[in-house]
Amino acid sequence: MKFGGTSVADAAAIERVAGIVRARFESSGGGKPPVIVVSALAEVTDRLIAATRLAEDGDVERAAASLDDLLARHLSVASALTTGTRRDDLVAAVREEFATIIGLVRALAVLREISPRSLDAVVAAGELASSRIVAAALAERGVPAVWIDARTIMTTDAEHTGATPEMAQTCARANEVIGPLAADGHVAVMGGFIGATAQGVTTTLGRGGSDYSAAIIGACLGVDEIQIWTDVDGMLTADPRIIPEPQLVRQLSFAEASELAYFGAKVLHPSTILPAVSKNIPVRILNSLRPEVSGTLITAEARPPDGRLSAIACKRGVTVIDITSTRMLGAHGFLRRLFEVFERFKTAVDVVTTSEVSVSVTVDDTRRLDAIVDNLRKFAEVSCEPDMAIICAVGEDLRVDQTLFGRAVASLGRVPLRLVSQAASRRNITFVLRDADVTQAMTRLHDEFFRTVAVT
Ligand code: ADP
Ligand code: ASP
Ligand code: MG
Repeated sequence: MKFGGTSVADAAAIERVAGIVRARFESSGGGKPPVIVVSALAEVTDRLIAATRLAEDGDVERAAASLDDLLARHLSVASALTTGTRRDDLVAAVREEFATIIGLVRALAVLREISPRSLDAVVAAGELASSRIVAAALAERGVPAVWIDARTIMTTDAEHTGATPEMAQTCARANEVIGPLAADGHVAVMGGFIGATAQGVTTTLGRGGSDYSAAIIGACLGVDEIQIWTDVDGMLTADPRIIPEPQLVRQLSFAEASELAYFGAKVLHPSTILPAVSKNIPVRILNSLRPEVSGTLITAEARPPDGRLSAIACKRGVTVIDITSTRMLGAHGFLRRLFEVFERFKTAVDVVTTSEVSVSVTVDDTRRLDAIVDNLRKFAEVSCEPDMAIICAVGEDLRVDQTLFGRAVASLGRVPLRLVSQAASRRNITFVLRDADVTQAMTRLHDEFFRTVAVT
């Protein structure tokens, strides 16, 4: 059971989480206790990153003051949820966690240089503190919870701020540490998102990575279900920040959920599905504010075909790169040469379309764009267009109903489209268009496929 930032935002939210976990624990009869993975309290990760930026600017007093504020918030939540010696111990542990990073941030402010490695050390405090608080709150409410330092389990490479878990070590540690606890009827509680290298240096898995942590731990332990508890009812037919009243999608295949997560459905971290697929474990997205709603169930099977799409996602802030070369005419090896440039600069390409003499690709990571363009110009003409977006319409039914593609394109009317592609798997249709047109295009697509039809 993974609880996101808004699900543990304050004492009332953690109280709700405790109720949900206790109900689950009691229904298991203590036989298969749940394992709990939590994010930092809402907005804490952003605030910790902001504090390191202040330190980088040399503004040590504001950086320290903002960490003091965060400490005060954690202490008030911790004190509201616990009593007696449990409260004293929790308060002392949270204070110590913050004392460490306040010292670190002060030192970094002297150097005025924040490395990815030191950023991870600061940011990890969010999940360390939240998981301690949730463990204590559960224990206070009679659930036999045990706090675990996630860094002793989640073993990763040293790619700070976006580390990759080492599955074999992580699974071995999870089974060594959590296995016996669970067998004894204990509820293990750990922070998501954070890990450590084999040498014990703190790392993080990238923003939103707690979902990924939960899926990895779930796969390692071979659980019955991986539950992602958040602040919406499940996967919705579109991003509720763009489409005011999307519908709940009750069932998705692993492949559909992966596509949606990759193309911007923030409710799931894009890597979440992979560990679940490897062990064929169902993933369920649930709302901690409305635990009675059954949410979205994600499994290997697609729901029966009904002539509909499943959902629409969008990824913003994308750049289109057009690469043209007459030398491409009839020449082999051109695409290899082209994609080698992206590989060399470790930049992922999302959408690709080709014609006889040109290739267009999209990227969202533009950190190495200048170098990529310089290298491509050695053998082609190159132009870039920033401020674009990708809209991805997903549905297993695209494989069986050949009219859906036409309907999707037609629904966009006069919205200017830059690239259009339908994957060979035909599970998605991808449109690349100006970012400024996203709301209009999403609204048109959503109206076409979801407005008048009943909930899935
Ligand atoms: P958590 O803190 O629980 O991990 P996130 O903020 O990471 O929660 O993800 C949940 C949010 O994802 C929702 O509040 C919603 O605004 C956003 N979201 C974007 N696209 C979708 C979608 N298709 N379905 C559901 N939520 C979505
Ligand atoms: N707290 C981390 C973040 O805000 C991880 C997560 O919430 O999943 O990115
Ligand atoms: Mg999230």
